Amino acid sequence: MTAPQLLFYISAALLLQITIGIGLAAWRWQRSGTSPKTLPVNAGASIQALAWPGLRDFRVLRRQFEDARQTQCSFTLAPVDGAALPPFRAGQFLTLALDIPQASDAASRLVTRCYSVSEAPRPDAYRITVKRIPAPANQPDLPPGLASNHLHDRVQEGDLLRVRAPSGRFFIDGDAELPAVFIAGGVGITPMMSMLTWCLEQQPGRVLHLYYGLRHRGEHAFKTRLEVLAAEHSRLHLNVVYSQPCPGDVLGQDHQHTGHVDVALLRQTLPHGRHAFYICGPPPMMASLIPALLAWGISPQDIHHEAFGPASLAPMQAACDDAAPPLLPAVDIQFRRSGRTLAWTGQDASLLDFAERHGVAVESGCRSGSCGSCETAIVSGTVRYAVKPDHDVAPGHCLLCVGMPASALVLDA
Ligand SMILES: Cc1cc2nc3c(=O)[nH]c(=O)nc-3n(C[C@H](O)[C@H](O)[C@H](O)COP(=O)(O)OP(=O)(O)OC[C@H]3O[C@@H](n4cnc5c(N)ncnc54)[C@H](O)[C@@H]3O)c2cc1C
Repeated sequence: MTAPQLLFYISAALLLQITIGIGLAAWRWQRSGTSPKTLPVNAGASIQALAWPGLRDFRVLRRQFEDARQTQCSFTLAPVDGAALPPFRAGQFLTLALDIPQASDAASRLVTRCYSVSEAPRPDAYRITVKRIPAPANQPDLPPGLASNHLHDRVQEGDLLRVRAPSGRFFIDGDAELPAVFIAGGVGITPMMSMLTWCLEQQPGRVLHLYYGLRHRGEHAFKTRLEVLAAEHSRLHLNVVYSQPCPGDVLGQDHQHTGHVDVALLRQTLPHGRHAFYICGPPPMMASLIPALLAWGISPQDIHHEAFGPASLAPMQAACDDAAPPLLPAVDIQFRRSGRTLAWTGQDASLLDFAERHGVAVESGCRSGSCGSCETAIVSGTVRYAVKPDHDVAPGHCLLCVGMPASALVLDA
């Protein structure tokens, strides 16, 4: 073979390789219906712009229990105006404004609570799933959870609910090439249901792992649905972990593991390589898992998490507290409209706790920086947050529920 012939064959082989490479990339792009970083529903700030301002009326189309013990009830909500719903990012939550009748008198109390959407985005309805919250085990005399018990006991099909548009920063990324690991504890399964069903519909090539920690089969929500999805999609790997299996709960059938979802289990069962982690669960799970994932060498930008309340937020704040400025010596906080000036001594976890302890009337909702109900104008001074709030705070305002003073403050409250 002559030198020009050899050169010709090498060039032809190279050209063929490049063409195959481009062809494969185009095929993957078409199959996923999206470029790796762009998603039809989950992308772009424009989604928020499509949402409605304030509250919108929704009718409860359907109620359905999701677990055998009937502690978790789904509500499917359709807009009363019949207009198509704006898209949202799988993993986001709705904020409900509930008028809850009080036992003592006829007046009702306005209560704001957040609930994650528990299915993939669709244009006609949202589904949320609410866990009934009892009084704490060590304080049975306290009233049980206000909103969750109201929804379980009083809200029926056909009833109206007032709802704010989906929001939140805990949502699935658009990188279909990066395997996703969903870690849910208890009712923390709700945003995962939205994210994983969305991935199955929209990201055909993506490998998905679900680690779902709960006590036993009685509270195993979405059991059949998850099993059907795993049977239909070999790329969905189910790891259900019971911590207190009941007699009759079958290992290898109802659950794959016994114990808790921890890094040892992840190391044992996850393939090597980079993964995106999504975590939502009770305080002990969040408090142990997130530092352990970091210690395992997972990059912080691959760890996404959501807290369902102030208790779940605390361990996260502790983990992220390096970034927070040092605590202040005593400073004055003036609540201008209430006409009160009080000394902040650092004993409260937030400005909301501080205001409530002193009897200053302020609005509140999720108590975790998500819903924006406690957003308050700052007349002067600076507020700091240990963890960036989920809610987009308007300029010149602060969130009392997760804010602490960084200086003396005058607040419009
Ligand atoms: C972003 C986000 C998403 C969420 N998604 C979901 C979801 O998908 N599904 C879901 O079920 N929940 C979800 N939550 C949690 C939800 O918003 C509510 O916090 C939850 O339903 C409890 O509200 P509640 O009104 O029933 O309980 P609360 O009335 O707030 O009571 C909470 C607990 O405090 C106890 N308590 C009452 N009085 C006192 C007192 N004086 N002292 C001490 N304790 C007292 C109650 O007995 C109860 O155990 C989410 C929260 C957030 C922030």
